[in-house]
This record gives sequence, C-alpha cells and structure tokens, in this order.
Amino acid sequence: MDHPGFDTDVVIAGAGPTGLMLACELRLAGADVVIADRLAGRTGESRAGGIHARTLEVLDQRGVLDRFLAAGEVQSVGHFSGLWLDFDDSDSRHPRPLMILQSAIELLLEEWAAELGARVRWSSEVTGIRQDGAGVTVELGTGDAARATLRARYAVGCDGGRSTVRKLAGIPFPGSPATMTALLGDVELPDLPEEYIFMRRCPGGHFSVIALEPGWHRVITSEYDHVAECEGPATFERLRESLIRLAGTDWGMRGPRWVSRFGDAARQASRYREGRVLLAGDAAHIHYPAGGQGLNVGVQDAVNLGWKLGLVVRGRAPESLLDSYHAERHPVAERVLHNTRAQSALARPGAQTDALRDVIGSLIAFDDVNRYLCGMITGLDIRYPADGHHPLVGRRVPDADLKTPDGTSRVHELLRAARPVLLDLRGGAAVVRVADGWTDRVDIVEARSEDDRWPVPGAGEIPAPAALLIRPDGHVAWATGGGRPHRSELRTALATWFGPAAQR
Ligand SMILES: Cc1cc2nc3c(=O)[nH]c(=O)nc-3n(C[C@H](O)[C@H](O)[C@H](O)COP(=O)(O)OP(=O)(O)OC[C@H]3O[C@@H](n4cnc5c(N)ncnc54)[C@H](O)[C@@H]3O)c2cc1C
Repeated sequence: MDHPGFDTDVVIAGAGPTGLMLACELRLAGADVVIADRLAGRTGESRAGGIHARTLEVLDQRGVLDRFLAAGEVQSVGHFSGLWLDFDDSDSRHPRPLMILQSAIELLLEEWAAELGARVRWSSEVTGIRQDGAGVTVELGTGDAARATLRARYAVGCDGGRSTVRKLAGIPFPGSPATMTALLGDVELPDLPEEYIFMRRCPGGHFSVIALEPGWHRVITSEYDHVAECEGPATFERLRESLIRLAGTDWGMRGPRWVSRFGDAARQASRYREGRVLLAGDAAHIHYPAGGQGLNVGVQDAVNLGWKLGLVVRGRAPESLLDSYHAERHPVAERVLHNTRAQSALARPGAQTDALRDVIGSLIAFDDVNRYLCGMITGLDIRYPADGHHPLVGRRVPDADLKTPDGTSRVHELLRAARPVLLDLRGGAAVVRVADGWTDRVDIVEARSEDDRWPVPGAGEIPAPAALLIRPDGHVAWATGGGRPHRSELRTALATWFGPAAQR
C-alpha cells in the first residue's frame, strides 16, 4: 500500500469462487486485497459440479488451467433442462464441460490466490459498510463478539445470494419467486440403481442419482408447485421422503455428507455498483442452477471487474471505468436468468411439457440450434456493448495459433500477465506508434496468425484481423481488418479502457 490511512485497496466479502477469482485478478492488477469470509473455514460443501468452455478459457488465459483439468474429468455432453447438447461443435480449444466439484474449484482458487499474495480472513463476517468520498469502512464481526474495522478504497460483495453487502448498500434485488423445491444430498447408496439417472421425470417433478466420487452419490429431487422455503432446514429425512415420493424407493441411502435446498427463484441486483461498493456472483444474481451456469457467471464477473478495479485503485484510469462493469455484466446475467426460467418451465411435470420437450429435443438435433444453445450456456457467444465496427469488438478473442519472433504461441497465452495486449498481425508500425503513450500499461506483440480465418461463436468465420487491442479479460477493445489504420479509433479505445496516455 502506498497511501496512508488505508488497510488495503479492496475488501472482498466472501471466499466463494467469485471472491477468490476476483482476489486473484486484483493481485495480478497490482492491487492489495483482503478477503473476509464469515465461515470458520472450508466446509467441503459442493453445489456446482462443473465448469464450461469460457471459464476454462479464462483459466487458460492465466496459465492455471492444468491444475483444474487434473482435478476433474472432461465430459462429452452437457444439457439444456435435461435435453442433451453436444458441445464439441463449440469454437473453443476447450469445448467440453469439465466435471469438477465446487469444493475442489475453491481449494484450487484459494491456493492460487495465496501464491499471488491474497489470503482469506476466516471467521470475519461483514456486518457494516460506511462509504465516503475517499473510501469505505468495513465492519467485521469476528465470531467471538469482537469487532474489527478495515479501511479500504472499495468493497465488493461476493457474499452469495443472501448478500449482506447488497442489503447494506441498499441495492434492490427484484425478480420472480420460486415455484418448486429441490433437495440435494451427497449420500452413500448401498442398493445402487442399475442405470445412470438424470432428471428422470415423474408426476410430481423429477429426480437424479449421480455417481460423484468413489463411495458417494449425489441425489437431487425436484418437486413442483411446492415451495418449502418456510419449512425449516433441509434435512436428510426430508430428502429421503422426497425421493420416495418421486422414485418409490430410497435405494437404502444413508450417511449424508451434506444436504441442502434450492429453488427456481430468479433475482438480479438492479445496480452492480453503488459508489464504492460493487457486487459480483450470486450476490448480484440468483437463478435455477440448470445447465450449470452460476459459478461460471460469477467467475466471469470477477474477470470483468478485476482489471478495471485494479487500474482505478492504482490511479491509472478514472472511476467512471467501473460503470462499464454494470453495463457489460448486467445483461449477461439477465440472459442467464431468462434461459434458466425457460429451463425450469421445460422441467415441469405434465403431458403438455412432455410434448414441448419432444419438440425442443427435435430442434436441438439441428446443428445451428445445438450451437446456439451451447454458445448461450458456455458464454462463448457473449458480446459486450461495443462502438467499433469490426465484428470482433466486444467479443472474447479466439485462441488462434500465432507465429511470433520467439516461436509459436497462442492468443490466450499472451494474456498470462493479465495486461492489455496490442497484437499487430501484419507488422504495421503505424498501429504500434499510436500506443506510444500506453506502453506502461499495454503490451505490444508482433506476430502472424497461422490461420487466415478465425471462427467466432455468434459471428461465424471471419478473416483474421490485421491488428487488435485485447483487454486483460480477453475481450476485444478494438480491431482492424487492414486498409486504413483507424488510428483515432485505436487512440479512443486505449484511452477509454486503459486511462489517458502517459505524459512524456
Ligand atoms: C445444486 C446446485 C448445483 C449447481 N451447479 C452448478 C454448476 O454445475 N455450474 C455452475 O457454474 N454453477 C452451479 N451452481 C451455482 C453455484 O454454486 C453458485 O453460482 C456459486 O457458488 C456462486 O459463487 P459465489 O462465490 O458468487 O457465492 P457463494 O459460493 O455463495 O459464496 C459466498 C461466500 O460468501 C460468504 N459470506 C456470506 N455472507 C458473508 C458476509 N456477510 N461476510 C463475509 N462472508 C460472507 C459465504 O460464507 C461464502 O463463502 C449450482 C448451484 C446449486 C444450488
């Protein structure tokens, strides 16, 4: 910390996947960070069971993907409300979902955060936040009636769906209430069902029995038109009764590792920023977990916010850069809420829904429909609102093979340091000269694309660009196909995203 009066640059409330990823991104951007979590330590609970292509790419961009691949298993398929999708068609180096428990994801992210110099402060519940013109004062309850305060420039609520930070900041959380109740438990199952059971439909709802790890099965029951939020805690007994109601048997289940409950309520924070307080992950959006998207969206929120907040706390970019976080990420989660509402509707019991599922299932057999749904579930087709005319602007950059003066490389490898990259693919000195005032923040790389055409989810195949400016999160800020070098557009993009040019 180079400014007195502050304990840290950013306090992050919550050491779930979103808070941990944000801590890593902030450390890479050169910011100091404290992660406070109200728990005494990791519980081993594991809601999410997998991550999708765009999150795998994001981890690859930072050079840590191998750790996650080693702890999980690549799947051949994914689903939309239980209807199988073929992800192999997605234009990504890592198209297939990785099955990996959330508990393992959190451990790996926490390890990486520690390597980067960010440690979790356990038993530290954020109970109060006051903000003024210069910073925030965050009150922490430490579990033994003692209180502590931390002074920081910004606070980010990554504290889950019931976010205290969101409530303290007075940010509304509108949406639709739950219409069903799902119970989930990781249990031992001595009388194993003979087949794999995933979203088996029955008159009251549907259930799944999924082999998790040696000795453990995940049982999920979903009952419709029954909302149990007020019925007290989720218990093993309630899970067993629900399974018997739906499946007619409990397969002798016993020894639960944990049991929890979820529903299809869909809500979203109306603002992701209130002054010096921001929200990310489940604190900003909750929805039915169909298709396995929530953790992915939270991690990608963190990757969008981290470099921007890093530049702002280091005084390199104006505070207004933070407004682009809401502008870019709010529509993304809004679309996820929309598609998960559709998936919840498609999962309802009844003859009409059975027929609708048949129709949607037949549509998915068409390659274009399959590709459209995969793009949506993986987030590969996301395009942030963009001013530029080039089709790449606003989209995530494809991971094309490159030939550089030092040998072969890939576009995503250039993002390891989480710094912006001006990639010149045709040796145009004019383009490089424009970036003169930004070389303290922007890496300039000259290379050749190995391919003439780049596949871009949502835009089809496009000619490889002549030059492009890539943000640290892997989204394209500016691109040109050649011809006129568009110097003023490049200068505007550099100043918009990475602050004014340095004075020489
Ligand atoms: C059954 C189920 C299956 C799912 N499967 C998938 C899947 O396959 N793929 C996927 O992408 N997503 C999935 N999800 C969603 C995913 O689990 C969540 O989206 C993800 O956990 C959100 O991460 P987060 O870090 O934003 O919040 P959380 O994981 O909820 O973490 C919040 C953290 O904040 C802490 N906290 C809370 N209040 C405070 C406070 N006041 N002060 C300090 N700390 C606080 C908590 O202790 C916690 O550690 C699933 C969800 C469910 C229910």
